[in-house]
Amino acid sequence: MADCIVASEKTGLGPRQFDLDRCVHCGLCLNACPTYRELGLEMDSPRGRVYQMVQVAEGAPITPSYMRHIDLCLACRGCESACPSGVPYGRMVEDARAQIETHVHRGWIARRFRRFVFERLLQSRSVLSVAGTLLYLYEASGMKVLVRALGLLHLLGPLGDLEQLAPSAEPPFFFSQIGRTFPPQNERRYRVAFLSGCIANVAFARLNEATVRVLQKNGCEVVVPENQCCCGALHVHSGLPDEARVLARRNIDAVLEGGFDAIITNAAGCGSTLKEYGELLAGDPDYASKAAAFSGRMRDVTEFLASIELNSAMGSVNANVTYQDSCHLAHGQKVRSAPRKLLSAIPGLTLMEMHGADLCCGSAGIYNVVENEMSRQILARKIAAINATSANIIATANPGCMLQLRAGVRLHGTGQRVMHVVELLDLAYKNS
Ligand code: SF4
Ligand code: SF4
Repeated sequence: MADCIVASEKTGLGPRQFDLDRCVHCGLCLNACPTYRELGLEMDSPRGRVYQMVQVAEGAPITPSYMRHIDLCLACRGCESACPSGVPYGRMVEDARAQIETHVHRGWIARRFRRFVFERLLQSRSVLSVAGTLLYLYEASGMKVLVRALGLLHLLGPLGDLEQLAPSAEPPFFFSQIGRTFPPQNERRYRVAFLSGCIANVAFARLNEATVRVLQKNGCEVVVPENQCCCGALHVHSGLPDEARVLARRNIDAVLEGGFDAIITNAAGCGSTLKEYGELLAGDPDYASKAAAFSGRMRDVTEFLASIELNSAMGSVNANVTYQDSCHLAHGQKVRSAPRKLLSAIPGLTLMEMHGADLCCGSAGIYNVVENEMSRQILARKIAAINATSANIIATANPGCMLQLRAGVRLHGTGQRVMHVVELLDLAYKNS
């Protein structure tokens, strides 16, 4: 714990020496790394990146080449699962990015754009609502269909690539449900808090509603705390841990005193960071113990449902389903069996494993936006693995992966539907 306290206070100083020392350069992580599998370059493998971090720690300058290899990392943590030495690679790449962030001099436009995304868009319900409404109008007016039908996306260059990855807005947005308490169906067995995300309130409003319904079906009183905010995961992954700490304190204050049996998220990427609040705030004397208590109560919705006696009053969902592990669930939180257990509990559903289910799909937060080309290469390989099964539904446990996989199906798929595990459970309850 002492190491954590010191380390959490060293924002911008790079990966910690005791983390760097753990790597014995065995190379067992190489094949678990999507960028190494694509490029075959040592410097774009976990071992190569750790080597470069060591060079910087020993005084080598932070060069554009170093920054490029670190940028190209998905932070998927596939290498952590493969590493026999317990190298905490996810933490190391976050530290490396925070260090780069203190060295890098961005142009005015890039600075304004980052400020808008990290300080305004992700943190403001009203800004997100406006953005969601504009997106909805773009779709509902027929513009989206027209732009795609006329092939205009190609003319937009990188913006056209982004358009393909953009989520659909789902009015009415889930913001209207924040602050509400939903009663359990039948006897109350648990009282849980549901953290509904930031963008998810706009782009996955129906998923959030399904999550509440499934929890209610399983005897949960579901509170959607009023003062919750963005979890800070994208801030941490982008080298902005101080900003993430501000958000973490706000979420802790919003939830901790509510007497909850569990704090639930349906977004694996958020859950990974929410479970690490204890580490993020270990150096804050006012919040260290509160953050540890918060993280200890944090559960992915699939993890929570698989740990309780599941309401089995489900109807059939006759479908072949393949499950894509979300990196931050499988590698970050070590939750692999829970979603599969839930899917297997649905009558009529046949679970078909794809090859390399726990290899990243290329989504990785905003990686698919900022590293679009590599993301697309990784996605094409993923969809080929999915096509090789005869599944007609792709299930996953993270909204970011759902967006990426939907784009992948449009580009390379065979018309598969992409659903969250909880949406399949919700469908099964509706069919009963
Ligand atoms: S990160 Fe782990 S698996 Fe990879 S080279 Fe280092 S010790 Fe080996
Ligand atoms: S986090 Fe993912 S992309 Fe980055 S080095 Fe590890 S396996 Fe490779």
